[in-house]
Amino acid sequence: MARYNGPVCRLCRREAMKLFLKGERCFTEKCAIEKRNFPPGQHGKARKPKIVGFGLQLREKQKAKRYYGVLEGQFRNIFHKASITKGVTGDNMINMLERRLDNVIYRLGFGTSRNQARQIVRHGHITVNGRKCNIPSFMVRPNDVIEVAEKSRKNPTIVGARDTTAHAPSPNWLEVDRENFKAKVLSIPRRDELVQIQLNEQLIVELYNK
Ligand code: SF4
Repeated sequence: MARYNGPVCRLCRREAMKLFLKGERCFTEKCAIEKRNFPPGQHGKARKPKIVGFGLQLREKQKAKRYYGVLEGQFRNIFHKASITKGVTGDNMINMLERRLDNVIYRLGFGTSRNQARQIVRHGHITVNGRKCNIPSFMVRPNDVIEVAEKSRKNPTIVGARDTTAHAPSPNWLEVDRENFKAKVLSIPRRDELVQIQLNEQLIVELYNK
């Protein structure tokens, strides 16, 4: 399964904002956005492009892709599914991205970043409704019960992530029992409950509809 393996802080620097790709480090002064908030590359500091039109739409799409850790093909598929689903395409798309199992594990605090959450899922540490699920793109639905598998509840990565993220609030659409590594999906998330960064999904819709 393909995924981005390169340096992640440069992705934040390219978008000129924190995308929270590195867990706890993102909340410290070591964050690259705190230290050098200019585009990466040799001429990054000198570059002051005025972004309009297509450029704006492209940046918004890249930002969403990078934030959720999905590649172009997967992102396009999600957009396609969102566009043929009843409702507002942009809302559907964000909603689908948010309901991915790797994102849900991150939101529940069983992984400190989406990357780590994705690895936890891939390594078979997660069950959905009592059955092992190792597909990061699996989309959870209301009433699904998500658990860390019994044998993985002492896994230092998962326990460490749970303890480090203890202060982070859980989203309203998820009911979480951190002590027992268990959660339930209460509802479909509302758009206003989603994404911790500023994202204008309408620009992405415009880009793909060209
Ligand atoms: Fe790196 Fe996280 Fe800061 Fe982004 S937010 S630059 S991933 S430390």
